[in-house]
Amino acid sequence: YTKKFKKNIYTLYSEELDAKASYRLSIENDLKVAIQNDELELFYQPIIDLNTNQLKAMEALIRWNHREHGLISPNDFIPIAEESGQIIEIGSWVLKTACRQNKKWQDSGILPFKVAVNVSTKQLQHYNFIHSVAKTLEEEMLEPKWLELEVTESILHEDVEFIKENLLRLKELGVCLSIDDFGTGYTSLNYLREYPFDKIKIDRSFIDDINRDLNGKRITSAVISLAHSLNMNVVAEGIENETQLNYLSDERCDEGQGYFFNRPLPVNRLKFN
Ligand code: C2E
Ligand code: MG
Ligand code: MG
Ligand code: MG
Repeated sequence: YTKKFKKNIYTLYSEELDAKASYRLSIENDLKVAIQNDELELFYQPIIDLNTNQLKAMEALIRWNHREHGLISPNDFIPIAEESGQIIEIGSWVLKTACRQNKKWQDSGILPFKVAVNVSTKQLQHYNFIHSVAKTLEEEMLEPKWLELEVTESILHEDVEFIKENLLRLKELGVCLSIDDFGTGYTSLNYLREYPFDKIKIDRSFIDDINRDLNGKRITSAVISLAHSLNMNVVAEGIENETQLNYLSDERCDEGQGYFFNRPLPVNRLKFN
């Protein structure tokens, strides 16, 4: 009886695994042609200066218009691309497209702002990354100060010396560096000082908690003070309502981003005033 029961569990489990594995494989195969077929697109989400209400930056967020599955969110294919190595090619495409778009915006005469690009660990660990950033900026004729690179906090625990070295070299290029999803990766605060970051982005989960409990407020305030004491700016991600915005402004959070201001939008739907 037990044996049979166990066998059933095993069968279910392995079918689920099969489905996952074949999904992965199909995504991986389709990704190969996605760039050539022009199926990748960048959406942009404004990052606002909470003191002046000015547009400080646009974060580029990748979308995949899959011919069968429709719009696929980055969480459903970026991890696969990271594992397969395709993230290198995709990452280069993102960087080039974002820099080109920012240059276009600047040439159109609107007040200049940065473009923020998410960079995965695999890219930062790649021997050619620094060179490719420098080359892209040159080719797209964008000044380095208008590019911001966002790396997730978890990166700081891998390949420490090499990553640190690469971040320093990026800093020397003149680009702005920020830590994304801060608070989710257990970085010791002391550690933070050793890296050349300009900005901390507080993870959305803490902003969410501002409405819900006192801890959300306390953690958010603590991160803001920490960042300021280390001479860094702070960005709050995922601001969805006025209560959160008011709290963050009162606590002197520098910048904010979220559905309360704007959802990420394709270029032709962004409006500037
Ligand atoms: P992220 O860098 O932390 O980006 C913020 C995510 O939060 C985005 O999800 C954005 O749409 C979402 N968001 C912004 N404001 C709000 C809000 O008020 N409420 C809620 N619920 N969500 C909000 P998205 O676009 O699905 O991207 C997910 C993640 O995928 C990103 O998280 C980033 O880590 C990764 N990603 C996106 N584009 C790229 C890329 O070009 N390259 C790499 N390597 N990763 C990317
Ligand atoms: Mg980001
Ligand atoms: Mg990110
Ligand atoms: Mg984030």
